[in-house]
Amino acid sequence: MPDIKRILLAVDFSGDSEFIGTRAIELAKKYDAELLLIHVVVDLKAHWYERILLSSLSDDVEEQLVDSARRQLKELAAKLGIPAMRCLVELGSPKAGILKAVREHDVDLIVVGSHGSGGVDALLGSTADSILHRSPVDVFVVRLPS
Ligand code: AMP
Repeated sequence: MPDIKRILLAVDFSGDSEFIGTRAIELAKKYDAELLLIHVVVDLKAHWYERILLSSLSDDVEEQLVDSARRQLKELAAKLGIPAMRCLVELGSPKAGILKAVREHDVDLIVVGSHGSGGVDALLGSTADSILHRSPVDVFVVRLPS
């Protein structure tokens, strides 16, 4: 078992984020590890069709989304008792943003949630699935109530 010193908890601000957070805190205590929180603001302008839709909106729409994500993440961190300085916000695709943070912050374990409803193909959601397949470190998937 590798030494787990830093855990990255990925949250999408769905109603399950506190539930996943509680599991991540338990893991961090068990391994005496530091817990970081990340939310990735999906880069809407990465796709041509969304670029056209967004062209009528102000240029700083992304900046506003990032600011709002920072606020929400700090609120969640406060509820979970995690220092605000351990909150990371990235812009891009959730998979790319989470894996970038893993590299930059020397993360040993990623914690994500997944709804287990549906058939075998739906066992993991798309984000959890893509992280699991690309991650250079272990991934802890919290089964969420369906
Ligand atoms: P999904 O595969 O989209 O159902 O998401 C499963 C899990 O991936 C969530 O419970 C989070 O742990 C993580 N996740 C999804 N979207 C994001 C995001 N934008 N930022 C950070 N984590 C995310």
